[in-house]
Amino acid sequence: MSLLQVSKLEAFYGASQALFGVDLEIAEGELVALMGRNGMGKTTTVRAITRMLRTTRGEISFDGRDLSVLPSFRAARLGIGLAPEGRRCFANLSVNENLMASARPGPWDIGKVTELFPRLGERMDQSAATLSGGEQQMLAISRALMTNPRLLILDEATEGLAPVVRQEIWAAIARLKQGGQSILVIDKGFSELRAVADRCVILARGETVWTGTPAGLTREVETEFLGV
Ligand code: ATP
Repeated sequence: MSLLQVSKLEAFYGASQALFGVDLEIAEGELVALMGRNGMGKTTTVRAITRMLRTTRGEISFDGRDLSVLPSFRAARLGIGLAPEGRRCFANLSVNENLMASARPGPWDIGKVTELFPRLGERMDQSAATLSGGEQQMLAISRALMTNPRLLILDEATEGLAPVVRQEIWAAIARLKQGGQSILVIDKGFSELRAVADRCVILARGETVWTGTPAGLTREVETEFLGV
């Protein structure tokens, strides 16, 4: 059974329709890349899954439960951890306070996240506002992990970071996958995504237009849907 099954999902921002039929499936332990050009509905899909945005049609089944009827705080409790686009840590709180604010019982704790990101361990008492962009991103991922999610969602986790820091984040993502974590990733680093993804789902104009393995992402598919 899949952990997450999204089918024919539709959603609006006010009167303007943003999703027209998104299909997306994630099996337990799988890493799925959600791809597509700018503005095609990737972040909106994440908002719909995490119930930040109400959906009008379609199904979201998570761990066998229908999420389409739940408000967002319940979705988080069911086990979806999101590191959102733009990071959104509490700027005035320390690293430690940021982590503790999202902690829920489970194997992930401060010790485990600082093992994954040793740099955070050295900055526990520093306010989040004083971290570098890469460290803030590590904190955002760690905050999501501290919720002990069944599904981790990373929306643009390497955006705007220096290549060497991006590599650190990708290495952490690979480690999480090796540990059996189910992950949905949105990122502009196609080659890194291809290397780590089990499957890729491509959106165009708010609709799923292609699903397959990274090996199936031919030049033709990339040209048609990703513009590379
Ligand atoms: P990007 O890579 O640029 O973030 P995306 O694939 O994540 O792109 P979305 O951010 O989901 O795309 O946007 C999908 C569509 O919904 C776009 O047409 C966008 O303009 C619109 N949209 C996104 N957020 C809002 C909002 N808060 N209010 C109204 N329209 C929005």
